[in-house]
Amino acid sequence: MNAIEITKPGEISVVEREMPQMGENDVLLKLKYVGFCGSDRSTFLGKNPLVQYPRIPGHEISAVIEKVGENVPATFEEGQNVTVVPYTNCGQCNSCKQKRFNACLHNQTLGVQRDGAMTEFIVVPWEKVLADAELSEIQLALVEPITVGFHAVDNGKVSDLDTVLVFGCGMIGSGAIIRASLRGATVIAVDIDDVKLEVAKKLGADYVINSGIQNLHQELKKITRENGPTVVIEAAGNPETYRAAIEEVAFAGRVVCIGYAATDVSFATKLWVQKELVITGSRNANSSDFEAVIKYLKNNQPDENIFVSKTVSPNDAPGAMRDWSEAPGEIMKILVQF
Ligand SMILES: [Zn+2]
Ligand SMILES: [Zn+2]
Repeated sequence: MNAIEITKPGEISVVEREMPQMGENDVLLKLKYVGFCGSDRSTFLGKNPLVQYPRIPGHEISAVIEKVGENVPATFEEGQNVTVVPYTNCGQCNSCKQKRFNACLHNQTLGVQRDGAMTEFIVVPWEKVLADAELSEIQLALVEPITVGFHAVDNGKVSDLDTVLVFGCGMIGSGAIIRASLRGATVIAVDIDDVKLEVAKKLGADYVINSGIQNLHQELKKITRENGPTVVIEAAGNPETYRAAIEEVAFAGRVVCIGYAATDVSFATKLWVQKELVITGSRNANSSDFEAVIKYLKNNQPDENIFVSKTVSPNDAPGAMRDWSEAPGEIMKILVQF
């Protein structure tokens, strides 16, 4: 079968791989659509410290069940459309003991610490498979990338009384904007790309700020009547936005960090103390976030074209990755159709 492989930093091609073997608790899936994640782009660029090469990327999955193992519950049948929870959890680390499986010490995400789904077939344990008859094949591929922002909003304990600032309006930030808006908060989206800010408005942002040309501090003062946003979600992974998060957040506010900054960031720690800030990380997502995204897609039926920038064949996927790595610009999501 064909697979897309990142052989080493800067090298990606279509390769031949053997069909995977399945056990009695596994499901064999035939892939329909797989999205490229920002982490796959980092792998291609050689900037993903969790990856060893060669690596098959991909963990944003839409697939159909081809075959079920003997011990798989009867609710799973051949021909069902599914998505996959692409993380593992050990069950024994401190995070797992607190049922925070998303932050497992030994987590292995498909396409990151182990080979992923950019291939014709994959085998996964049935516990990781989410079957859904209502979502479209494209919607199924969008579930996982949207969950990450949903989880950040959950970690930020966002309510209708909050004013939530989201830094970075790519796929992750978009998920955060959607869920903060679903929870009734006032949402301020910040980016340096006007196209992404237009998308943010469509997804529920009440205010948008282009921090490349507008004065962020002055705009926030106006919108929040000098208080600052009560919650800031950092989904840009940029030292400047990390510092701005601490500086702009309201006194007694919360800061949720999802973005991976490539370099260390220094802060004025007195602001943490003075403002009595809660600063929390947010990683991957858990099953309630998957449930919430599936519910959102069903109830709201957002236009798929908002998220999907382009769909390519497996043969065109290497070229699409090269183009994206050179010019991230306005790309929200590239889907590979198998
Ligand atoms: Zn991802
Ligand atoms: Zn664990």
